[in-house]
Amino acid sequence: VGAKVTIHRAGDVIPEIVSVAKPKQGWRMPAKCPVCGGEVVREEPYIAHRCINPFCGAQRLERLRHFAAVVDIEGLGYSTLTQLIDRKMAEDPSDLFRLRKEQVIELDGFADKSAQNLVDRIAASKKPALGRFLSALGIPQVGEATAEMLAGEFGSIEKLRGASEEDLQRVEGVGPNMAREVFMYFDGHGGELVSKILKAGVAPEAAEPVGEGPLTGKTFVFTGTMETMGRPDAEALVRKLGGKTASNAS
Ligand SMILES: [Zn+2]
Repeated sequence: VGAKVTIHRAGDVIPEIVSVAKPKQGWRMPAKCPVCGGEVVREEPYIAHRCINPFCGAQRLERLRHFAAVVDIEGLGYSTLTQLIDRKMAEDPSDLFRLRKEQVIELDGFADKSAQNLVDRIAASKKPALGRFLSALGIPQVGEATAEMLAGEFGSIEKLRGASEEDLQRVEGVGPNMAREVFMYFDGHGGELVSKILKAGVAPEAAEPVGEGPLTGKTFVFTGTMETMGRPDAEALVRKLGGKTASNAS
């Protein structure tokens, strides 16, 4: 549309548009996604309008890749996923868990043993920690740290899905916009996707509720790289000791 845009990386999935300058005169933002017909939503405080349908064909490859990477399905990269999509063997993450060795063996680059290995690795990722699972879904505005926070607060996918906007807003660090987006996600197609994934045999492991401990009343923010453990592990440890974690200092 001839406009200049500024983008940033959001939630590890899709670049998000921060500002738009000088679109052509008379141009209007579409109200429906041109690919899937899904609802296009403007995400406050960003200027971005985007399709929030997790089944959207235009986002299929990136969403599948994000899911596979976050739940740690090693060896399920772009080339394999592209083939699975082209052959209509995978439309959303739930399909990955139904793949059989005989199907994988048909793909370029696979033989008997490698096909079995991939099917085994997918099966081994059926019990992700709840925070990781939430992060893998790519819920708008919910990155790794927020996903861990929601997991710690609600404990199970059922409780989180049943949460009202008010329940969500009670969580420290969740503002009205995020609460609305998370609620909308589970209330709409996102809820449908979660049901399909659970039905395919995925069972997210319940998160330990925030307990009382030496760090009760304190909030921790981790950034950068740590020498002895990854960020999710460090955050889990803080919560185990009664502390809270946040994605940024505020
Ligand atoms: Zn769409």
